[in-house]
Amino acid sequence: MRAKMEKRYERIRKKRDFRKTPEPGAKEERPFWAGKEPIFVVQEHVASRRHFDFRIEVDGVLKSWAIPKGPSTDPREKRLAIETEDHPLGYADFEGTIAEGEYGGGTVILWDRGSYRNLREGASPPESVSEQVKKGRVSIFLEGQKISGGYALVRTGGKEGKQWLLVKMKDDEADARRNPVSTEPASVKSGMTINEIKGVKNRENQ
Ligand code: MN
Repeated sequence: MRAKMEKRYERIRKKRDFRKTPEPGAKEERPFWAGKEPIFVVQEHVASRRHFDFRIEVDGVLKSWAIPKGPSTDPREKRLAIETEDHPLGYADFEGTIAEGEYGGGTVILWDRGSYRNLREGASPPESVSEQVKKGRVSIFLEGQKISGGYALVRTGGKEGKQWLLVKMKDDEADARRNPVSTEPASVKSGMTINEIKGVKNRENQ
């Protein structure tokens, strides 16, 4: 487990110059707002392309997907989600600007955060979230500040098998009229939008 994580972090370190990026690096601490339940975050990231990084805590790391259009609250909307590398838990609270030319260069805000529950915990046999990720079918219930309720992540294959879809389940939290990605742009951490945070010096890691 330890060695596996080290290898993962090595990959993350190699791509970045931590004298230049304000990112938290291999910090493994859960954010202060994390409770007993596993956490999830959605980070809006304006890099070469705008996307939303959807991350869920699984076995001590953040399993991650990049969602070009961001999560929807409408069960009819299937949102493409590209599996990306696992991130250390310290990333869950990150927002700021990564210098141009650096890996992931651009601006990040913490668009949503909260906890989640495994919807297959009570299934027979019960299935852990990490088993579900391996199988390519994940059912979780999110409790965020902007998005909540049941969501399914389904692997559809594509290039190197990294293509998934994120779909809202039909439940009380489903709402076809809401479009939080465009109507609720402010960060849940700073209250600032991505344009407001652009250019703001990141004080935390300097
Ligand atoms: Mn990203």
